[in-house]
Amino acid sequence: MKSITRRALISHAAGIAATGIAAPPVVAAAMKAARRSGAVGALPERGEFVVRGAYVMTMDPALGDIAGGDVHVKDGAIVAVGKALKAPGAAVLGGERMIVLPGLVETHWHMWATLARSFSGDRREEANFPMMAALGKFWTPADTHQATRLGAVEALQSGITTVHNWSHMLPAPEFADTELRALADVGIRARFSYGWSQSLAETEPLPLADIERVHKDWAKFSNGGLIHLGLGWRGMWRFGKFTPPEVYRREFDFARGIGIPISLHVPGVRNSPKVIEMHGNANFLGKDVLIAHATWATADEIKMLKDTDSSVSLSPVTDARIGYGFAPASELIDGGVNCCLSIDTPAATGACNLFENMKYLVNLENGRFGSEFKLLPRKVLELATIDGARALGIADRAGSLRPGKRADLIMVSTRGVNMGVFTDPAHLLVEAGQPANVDTVVVDGRILKRQGKLTHVDADRLTDETAAAFDALRKRSNWRA
Ligand SMILES: [Zn+2]
Repeated sequence: MKSITRRALISHAAGIAATGIAAPPVVAAAMKAARRSGAVGALPERGEFVVRGAYVMTMDPALGDIAGGDVHVKDGAIVAVGKALKAPGAAVLGGERMIVLPGLVETHWHMWATLARSFSGDRREEANFPMMAALGKFWTPADTHQATRLGAVEALQSGITTVHNWSHMLPAPEFADTELRALADVGIRARFSYGWSQSLAETEPLPLADIERVHKDWAKFSNGGLIHLGLGWRGMWRFGKFTPPEVYRREFDFARGIGIPISLHVPGVRNSPKVIEMHGNANFLGKDVLIAHATWATADEIKMLKDTDSSVSLSPVTDARIGYGFAPASELIDGGVNCCLSIDTPAATGACNLFENMKYLVNLENGRFGSEFKLLPRKVLELATIDGARALGIADRAGSLRPGKRADLIMVSTRGVNMGVFTDPAHLLVEAGQPANVDTVVVDGRILKRQGKLTHVDADRLTDETAAAFDALRKRSNWRA
């Protein structure tokens, strides 16, 4: 490790001690461990702590918001949420001028593509899909490892405690293994959707035997239950082409057969056939099905999604960036469809945080409907927390702050100059909030970010390694630009 980073970590640890608050021993231990190991050190222990005197947004309808509230966490679980909680012996995390809420839940992110962040260029052949397919030919498991680690760390940094890592860069088993290892190392909660690879023909089936291998061996990959497996399905129709029925049917039945949830893109291409209706008519929708984009969903299709209890992962930033258009987000939400938010592909979207996503969606919907009140910040925060957890089938353990759930929470400081006042917390978070305001991040009871610093990650080393991997990939692929 470079000495400057070591010094920064040491002085940061000293800073925590000097404040006299919020220095659970686990944090200091994790920082020490990070200094000893690689870019991502050992995960801290879970321990016991209580957040005191914060503005707590539980996102639980019965508990609501609690001004001056406490959250007591022990051994990874939320013990109690309320005022003036008794928690003898628990380390105290001061919540003054902090908004505490459930960790944000991201629901559709091709994390392998984080290595090519903002590499979708200005010419047709450099556009997202041709560029990633061309670059993908030179991709190694090590590249995927760097990309997934960087993405997962960026997620934590910005208050995302759950990601849906949907991989479509899986030409060999090692690629899946390395993505799963990276998620486990970083300690984030996740769904890993096993999809296709960039080189797989539309007529060829997904590598079901390898998915079965991973599924059988799941205890090895799940990081103690933090990660669950899903299928990244291509569906019946993609990019103007139909997948052969014997292929899509077998893949769907396979996933249902082993009981894993299914995700598919309904591409945002204008004037495409009614893809959602097509899947509904073939009985391919359901509570275990997550649709990404749904950019051109019709009123009938929205009803179909609602009736089948399917969820939609909205991608407002990519939809606009790539020119898909504007998804009928309000029509879906008002129609009773469970909606949530996604990063999608960093190659085109660049920044991977949900603050940007939330603000963008609210403004888009208000603009589209000519109303200041069309999509309220409070609702979009639900999309980014509890509704996301529902879409991923993990609402029993994440997405809201309620006793008995796993402790995935974030503390957002209002002290930053981009905030500086405490007004309406929902408006403040969505309109003014930035990743830099995320002071503390807890996943499954582990404190992974504290006082603005990641506890088990040497971020300088991580980005040095990732940048080197991208430069090498670019060279290897002989990328002309
Ligand atoms: Zn996608």
